[in-house]
Amino acid sequence: MGEARGRVIQAWSRQGTQPPPRIVGGEGCRFFDAAGRSYLDFSSQLVNANLGHSRTEIQEAVQKQVATMATLGRPWDVEIVDELADRLAEITPGDLNSFFFACSGTEANEAAIRLARAYTGRDKVIARYRSYHGSSAGALTLTGEPRRWVGEPGVPGVVRMLDPYTYRCPAGHPTPCPVCSGAPHLRELLQYEGAENVAAVIVEPITGINGVIVPPDGYLRAIRDVCTEHGIMLICDEVMTGFGRTGSWFACDRWGVVPDIITCAKGLTAGYLPLAAVAVSDRLSGWLQDSVFPYGLTYSAHPVACAAAVAALQVYQKERLVERADRLGAVIEAALRELAERHPSIGDIRGSGCFWGIELVTDRATKQPLVPFNPGSAAAEPMTKLTAAAFQKGLYLLTHWNMIVVSPPLIIDEAEIREGMALLDETLCVADEYVVG
Ligand code: PLP
Repeated sequence: MGEARGRVIQAWSRQGTQPPPRIVGGEGCRFFDAAGRSYLDFSSQLVNANLGHSRTEIQEAVQKQVATMATLGRPWDVEIVDELADRLAEITPGDLNSFFFACSGTEANEAAIRLARAYTGRDKVIARYRSYHGSSAGALTLTGEPRRWVGEPGVPGVVRMLDPYTYRCPAGHPTPCPVCSGAPHLRELLQYEGAENVAAVIVEPITGINGVIVPPDGYLRAIRDVCTEHGIMLICDEVMTGFGRTGSWFACDRWGVVPDIITCAKGLTAGYLPLAAVAVSDRLSGWLQDSVFPYGLTYSAHPVACAAAVAALQVYQKERLVERADRLGAVIEAALRELAERHPSIGDIRGSGCFWGIELVTDRATKQPLVPFNPGSAAAEPMTKLTAAAFQKGLYLLTHWNMIVVSPPLIIDEAEIREGMALLDETLCVADEYVVG
């Protein structure tokens, strides 16, 4: 039974390629395959295993909840769910004090949009191009990147906004930049769409899988202010950036911005069980006292998943992992900048805390991407080779288009960072071979 048998359909992948290695265990920042090889997890799986693998605290909490009360329908209440909501209210910004619990980031975004539409009585939602918000019909329509194409035409009412992507600014990045400063571009869209028709603006405060794009200071505040002016709900999708990943509990904290809704998942249980949360403001929860919350799931607020989340939050707090991620940010950045000196394929490096992106190019002067922003293309080969080379060396890297996402568990230590960077150094030679400049 050491080999995967190929009956399991892999997400977002062409099937029929080599079955993946079978993983038999994990410990801390490492996991192991059936052949006894060990891999350093430099991406926290899909940027969710923030606490590393095999935490006994979470195992115990899950076992205890399974033995007490594993599953519950409506309208019952169980203590662990309230405890989770109380603990979350302590760390979510501003007056985001009430929570709907779903099972995935996708569902959280679906619920958030439905709530924003119901509350405002408006239909349109503004989302950005370089974004991923999930894979169900609504969340995939919000998604701007090419994975959206498989779901088109998608759901009506989604309007697209350009990204504050200073490295490749769609406006040519003049000073001041109408796109990267936020307000001018959004105001122009509102003029064309009718601000009174727009229910919500949804953004990843720091874009995740589409390149770890950190907006300039002032961007999120400007978007917040325009939304407030027009009664539009600002939704921060913190599915990837929440729970300390960027060096603060939530990425929006970095700029002191309080959205109307935060969606989060991944780090909430640190990947131990599927759980997501939609955190809503007091104004929204007040409105819900007399209005129906328009979303539901059999496994909403699953007690066992909530127990895993409570245990995870205790670990984050006890081990001061948010502060640790913030501190490690400088260590990771310094190491990546050193790699950039040696590897001409590195076009840009950006990030925060334990969340960094490396953008690969074939020519630094023209910024020609190593592979195009386009799925299923044969031109993706350089990245496929690079990811495979890392894996061969015992380094697990998350890659997407021409980006590497360096996002180790927040428990990683400096020796492990050095070890991962040395393996990354060797791996990047694969990308350097395509450099023409
Ligand atoms: N939003 C963001 C920013 C994400 O990165 C993801 C997944 O990677 C999602 C939403 C979707 O979450 P899930 O895969 O849990 O449905």
